[in-house]
Amino acid sequence: MDVYGLIGNPVGHSLSPPMHEAGYEELDIDARYVTFEPPQGEGATAVEAAETLDVAGLNVTIPFKQEVMAAVDPDDLARRIGAVNTIDFSTSPPTGYNTDAVGVTRALEHHDVPLAGRALVVGAGGAGRAAAFGLADEGMTVDIANRTVETAHELADEVDGATGHGLDAVPDLLADADVLVNATSVGMKEDRSPVPADALHGDLAVLDAVYDPIETRLLRDAGAAGATTVAGSWMLLYQGIEAFERWTGEVAPVEPMNAALQERL
Ligand code: NAP
Repeated sequence: MDVYGLIGNPVGHSLSPPMHEAGYEELDIDARYVTFEPPQGEGATAVEAAETLDVAGLNVTIPFKQEVMAAVDPDDLARRIGAVNTIDFSTSPPTGYNTDAVGVTRALEHHDVPLAGRALVVGAGGAGRAAAFGLADEGMTVDIANRTVETAHELADEVDGATGHGLDAVPDLLADADVLVNATSVGMKEDRSPVPADALHGDLAVLDAVYDPIETRLLRDAGAAGATTVAGSWMLLYQGIEAFERWTGEVAPVEPMNAALQERL
């Protein structure tokens, strides 16, 4: 039996075990997915321990996504993003991936959103970095707007063709945007949107990385403006699906994995 898992602190609320185990069940893969909660600062040690224990793959969440980079060989994308959320132990040293970037692009593709034209990423933390690199790698022209404008400029300097802005530029940027990604935590467990409702329009596709609640204020506003809406649960699903496929070499069963996720959201 293969053991996969997640390290984070805390991990009690994680939706990954039922999502991955639904995939193993569907494909008849003899595997389990478990959660581990190492102490803060012990992420790299936990990865070394997992390797010793013959764990097949690990997902990594807050607060360990940066520190585990010391214990793995990050691929090019993970190195550029500066964070690893998926580790494959079939290589030595283990390989580190960042599947949040593909989580964004595959979630949009699932909703038939063309990855072309201009994307506005609001937020420049972990999710914002993943979204900006992922969308730029697909050939989109990326604008990054962030509350702390210096962070937006710093990230834009790293991403091909990107430009950084403060949040005050959001209405003007939205007028020319094809895709909007909210990569801030605004809207999480609160009825607030990071962008003004009257700047949204029907030619936009809007992905909200926030998945609690499922229907955020931003997604309600975007739907009312006639935009295509993509809930954060799709990003969560596809970052997991990408990890599943890298680990198992199989095409992941999207429907049962999504059903397991939706049941618990
Ligand atoms: P993070 O690294 O802490 O970054 C937080 C971002 O939000 C920063 O850009 C920060 O701006 C901005 N921000 C925070 N409070 C704000 C406010 N009141 N007004 C405007 N901007 C504000 O967090 P993260 O890991 O990127 O996560 C961001 C969100 O994405 C969270 O809700 C998380 O749950 C979600 N997420 C979802 C998925 C998924 O699979 N769906 C994956 C990863 C993350 P400053 O730089 O100015 O502080």
